[in-house]
Amino acid sequence: MSMEKRELIYEGKAKRVYATDQPGQVIQEFKDEATAFDGKKRGVIAGKGKVNAQMSDIIFRYLEKHGIHTHHVKLISENELLTWWLEMIPVEIIVRNYAAGSLAKRLGYPERTEMKSPIVEYYYKNDELGDPMLAREHIRELGLASDEQLDEMTSIALRVNEILRPFFEARGIILADFKLEFGLREGRILLGDEFSPDVCRLWDAETGEIMDKDRFRRDLGKVEETYAEVLRRVSEEQAGVAASVYVSPKKGVLDPAGQATLGALKSLGYEEVREVRIGKYITLRLEGVEADKAEERVREMCERLLANPIIEDYRVEID
Ligand code: 5GP
Repeated sequence: MSMEKRELIYEGKAKRVYATDQPGQVIQEFKDEATAFDGKKRGVIAGKGKVNAQMSDIIFRYLEKHGIHTHHVKLISENELLTWWLEMIPVEIIVRNYAAGSLAKRLGYPERTEMKSPIVEYYYKNDELGDPMLAREHIRELGLASDEQLDEMTSIALRVNEILRPFFEARGIILADFKLEFGLREGRILLGDEFSPDVCRLWDAETGEIMDKDRFRRDLGKVEETYAEVLRRVSEEQAGVAASVYVSPKKGVLDPAGQATLGALKSLGYEEVREVRIGKYITLRLEGVEADKAEERVREMCERLLANPIIEDYRVEID
């Protein structure tokens, strides 16, 4: 399909937005330019535009698959996304699983402390004011979003966290925190902006190494390499693991279905049958886990739900 790229509508610090010949759709072109600390620090991260566009494409498609409505349409070149145009709500929603950045600083909380449960914060998207933190009452006072909209954005943000934490974990990455932006299309709230190492904190699960824009902010080096590595891990197709679970009543445990079948078989003339035990056969498919880990998880599922370990035996097979 030929997509016509028309006039530049908006240029931000990390993206350019262009009109298209498709009604209601725009092109987001991701730049290599990077800024931090309210634009006081500037630089270029070679390949960042490409990584951020491609990672956003993967993450938005994954979120859509899990029931989150986003502005995403598709990736149209290595650093351009086609998206729905949204009337943006000027509130940044931040979800934190671990202390870092401004939270660690503001509350004097040691970096990398795990939150007891995920924390949601609101910030005013306003460069002149330096994106100040907002309470719900400030949002109401300024009329930035209605209470219903704020509730909806908050619950979507927590849901995104529930979807993405295991997604990253399966790729050896801890999702420490992230920022979301939402907008309206035909009165409906959609997740907008991007999802990339520019807008979240990612830590290597094994080494603890920083794998996000903090490498640029804090001059940690290997910035380009790290962005490329994140894209590589996120792109990896997780083949998935098939598991079979056989559950049967333990020997000596009363099994009414087995007893009834035994009686029926005998009455049909199968005198040689001494014992019948009737169980169940369950198949599962797991995504984003290694086979070893999958077996451990499925055994846990058997103990907790799939079988009754007091009266039933189970056997797990992993393909
Ligand atoms: P903090 O409040 O600790 O600076 O940021 C929390 C998280 O939100 C980090 O992952 C950070 O990258 C992201 N974040 C917060 N504000 C902004 C912003 O204005 N721009 C971008 N790109 N990310 C932000």
